[in-house]
Amino acid sequence: MTEERRPVPDGTVVLTFDDSVASHATFVAPLLKKHGFGATFFITEGFEFSMDKTNYMTWEQIRALDAAGFEIGNHTRRHAAVPRQTPEQLAADVEHIERQCATNGIARPTSFCYPGYQTSPAAVKLLRERGYRFARAGGARAFDPVADEPLTMPQVFDGKPDSTLEQFKAAVAQAKDGKIAVLTFHGVPDLKHPWVSTEPAKFEAYLAHLKAQGCRVIAVRELAPFVKPKQP
Ligand SMILES: [Zn+2]
Repeated sequence: MTEERRPVPDGTVVLTFDDSVASHATFVAPLLKKHGFGATFFITEGFEFSMDKTNYMTWEQIRALDAAGFEIGNHTRRHAAVPRQTPEQLAADVEHIERQCATNGIARPTSFCYPGYQTSPAAVKLLRERGYRFARAGGARAFDPVADEPLTMPQVFDGKPDSTLEQFKAAVAQAKDGKIAVLTFHGVPDLKHPWVSTEPAKFEAYLAHLKAQGCRVIAVRELAPFVKPKQP
């Protein structure tokens, strides 16, 4: 059977959450469930993940996100910038998260997020070889699944303390004419990294806008029908 690329419905929005922050489990996930929204949580064991279980999720919490139907993506073991890693170091860091997922009964990740948004051709090659379909980078534009490489997928919005609802609405408005709005958040709030934190009340207003607009809010892996199938 020939797999055909499906056209992208207007209002297709992808929610992504980086860095394994505790508020993803305690605040974000329940709110997304209430709205019926999908999302991808990009897991790293970098920062103080191992020591600080007040501010970072436990693997039990990550397992519960998976069980609730959210996608668990790979954000590497150490959260190192991939252009500064050897292929061996990167492979080990990617593989560690895959192994942790397997240990916790979570499907092998097919979505990746570049630490610090820095990409490299070597990383793209490695991810492709390991079976990844999508890898989110930084940026400030909508993702065009026809023209853009899915393994360096841009974000159109990056939630910060001074981000406004107007900026959010402008980003979401770009989800049309075949383009997809991929939105990035860190903690809601993010007490250890306040410069990428989003206030809970503001986040609720963002989600209310998505609801009011009738957006289809999904996880990264659900973009697969919209990109060309990879040649074997
Ligand atoms: Zn990160």
